[in-house]
Amino acid sequence: APRVGVLALQGDVREHARVLGDLGAEVVLVRRPEELASVDGLILPGGESSVIDKLSRSFGMQQPIRAAISEGMPVYGTCAGMILLADRILGGIDGQQTFGGLDVTVRRNAFGGQTESFETFLDVPALGPEPVPAAFIRAPLVVEVGDGVEVLARVPEGAVAVEQRNLLATAFHPEVSGEHRFHRRFLELVRAA
Ligand code: GLN
Repeated sequence: APRVGVLALQGDVREHARVLGDLGAEVVLVRRPEELASVDGLILPGGESSVIDKLSRSFGMQQPIRAAISEGMPVYGTCAGMILLADRILGGIDGQQTFGGLDVTVRRNAFGGQTESFETFLDVPALGPEPVPAAFIRAPLVVEVGDGVEVLARVPEGAVAVEQRNLLATAFHPEVSGEHRFHRRFLELVRAA
């Protein structure tokens, strides 16, 4: 079974661990560089990207994660995790930094505040014909993509699922909708790496 880490500093770690377990992966909660070194892929959960950014720096995890990304480790980010993968962010707070690697510009909280969270169904042709349930919770939006980025799903305002080499990111949370196809696709990246 692939050994997959979930960055466990803040956010919906448990939901991701459950989906990965359902799909037969061996799950490691990652808080330290040694734990990161032991996994074949990493999930950046949803939560609060500015908090995960700060904690990753105080836990000495920013540089190891950046190195793993540039060495080709598959990483899947949902919501806050998408923000953390973006090379450029709009609306970051307090000198907020990202791990980067994904050649996109992401706007934080692009759909408004907590009360404007919503659930919808998206067409994601790369995952097959069945629409994908998508929970948007103070979600970001991809407002600009570089040449090497494949857009997997969009809403009228911009892109909400993207892939570039070893990196996969969704503005929404498949892990809270019982939706497993993005995680399955991610595990294929892990097996192929
Ligand atoms: N708004 C949050 C952030 O900027 C993301 C919300 C989420 O992950 N559900 O990090």
